[in-house]
Amino acid sequence: MHLEIPARPKKRLFLALILASLLLAVVSTWGLWFVSIPGLADISLYLPLILGLVIGVIALVAIGSVVGIVFAILGFHTPRFFLGQAWSVINLLFPMAIRMGKLFDIEKETVERSFIEVSNHLVRQKLVRVKPERLLILTPHCIQKDTCPHKITRDVKNCKRCGQCQVDDLLKLTERYGVNLAVVTGGTLARNVLKTLRPQAVLAIACERDLTSGIQDVFPLPVIGILNQRPFGPCCNTKVDIERVEKLLQDMVELREEVAS
Ligand code: SF4
Repeated sequence: MHLEIPARPKKRLFLALILASLLLAVVSTWGLWFVSIPGLADISLYLPLILGLVIGVIALVAIGSVVGIVFAILGFHTPRFFLGQAWSVINLLFPMAIRMGKLFDIEKETVERSFIEVSNHLVRQKLVRVKPERLLILTPHCIQKDTCPHKITRDVKNCKRCGQCQVDDLLKLTERYGVNLAVVTGGTLARNVLKTLRPQAVLAIACERDLTSGIQDVFPLPVIGILNQRPFGPCCNTKVDIERVEKLLQDMVELREEVAS
């Protein structure tokens, strides 16, 4: 069986598209302001100046935020507040970056993969380390064997551990490291699980689209995204690189003595 392992694109693709989108947004807003000056001046002589100042400040904050992200990626210390600001700007510009990618014939999934790389890099840079019970592995139910009759989305312990899908492997990891595992059918269930378990960090396994929207939805909760593998096409008997999941777990949880030794 051939496992399709998505390539890990460079972080600079997403950063370049976001910077280009920001530039376009700033130039078009400035153009709109410029052509509106006579009309605005008819209302009040001060209006063009006030509006120009407001637009200028917003543009400076947006540019500073994106530049802050670039510096953070390069390893410079960036204040937490600043990163929060930058994330809001990225969320705002993301649809534009996707459209800009299309102009250059870059697939949406490629841009999303690059975004996930950027996000993972920023989360890992914060050296997030939490108690095992505060870490949640979140995976979509398509990782379950499609013929399996057990309702693991209600309770993952309903899995009979037959080994026909990787739910068994993930449960082994939860036993070994003491972390939580939830298998969900979609965003609503995922949000409910987060509300109930209140994790301090999440290892999310999903496709490009779900990871991208999930990471943006739950910010500032630190999420490391792991792309699933889809040897049978989307949403059917998906797989994940279990070794990578385990390696990331080791980086993110305070290891219990019996695991560490
Ligand atoms: S490992 Fe669990 S979820 Fe997967 S097929 Fe077996 S019983 Fe079903």
